[in-house]
Amino acid sequence: MKIVFATNNKNKVKEIKALLPKDIEILSLKDIGCTEEIEETEDTIEGNARLKADYITKNYGYDCFADDTGLEVDALNGAPGVMSARYAGEDVTYEDNVQKMLKEMKGKINRESQFRTAIALNLKGKQYLFEGICKGEILEHKKGEEGFGYDPIFQPVGFDRSFAEMSLEEKGNISHRGLAMKELIKFLK
Ligand code: IMP
Repeated sequence: MKIVFATNNKNKVKEIKALLPKDIEILSLKDIGCTEEIEETEDTIEGNARLKADYITKNYGYDCFADDTGLEVDALNGAPGVMSARYAGEDVTYEDNVQKMLKEMKGKINRESQFRTAIALNLKGKQYLFEGICKGEILEHKKGEEGFGYDPIFQPVGFDRSFAEMSLEEKGNISHRGLAMKELIKFLK
């Protein structure tokens, strides 16, 4: 089957393609001629995942899925959460967000945190939600070159390497997005 993944994030597409069985093919937004930015205006990651999937189904007529992810840090009362992409402000880089996180967490003993992904699937007129959680800690310094976003400062429980020190496959096996995708794939099969 072919299904649209409602994202323009090349890193996410790469991660998700590595997880998909051969009989499920992903179409990107570019593939369906959607070049506009879909604004994330909801106040939960579930809300934003639904919003992005609904935008594509409503305006382009495709069955599709969309994801939204938040990094939830205990010592920051769950922040940045749904604001993870804009943690350091509007139009910021991944590096700006990482630096802001390192600053906010400086000297903090409790470094527990989790990535949480919500995936909304629109299929044949119905909507389904899937969730994936990966628990870990915020590191004191960046480690590794792989991945994107907060990967260099997030170390999953049970590992002594950050996400940015893992291959796509290794991260996909344990990550929030990987776990949510596995639920989605199970459902589609
Ligand atoms: P989005 O809204 O789902 O694109 O993600 C919100 C923010 O979380 C963005 O700044 C991403 O860089 C970050 N993010 C999402 N997924 C990951 C991940 O797997 N690793 C590190 N950062 C991520």
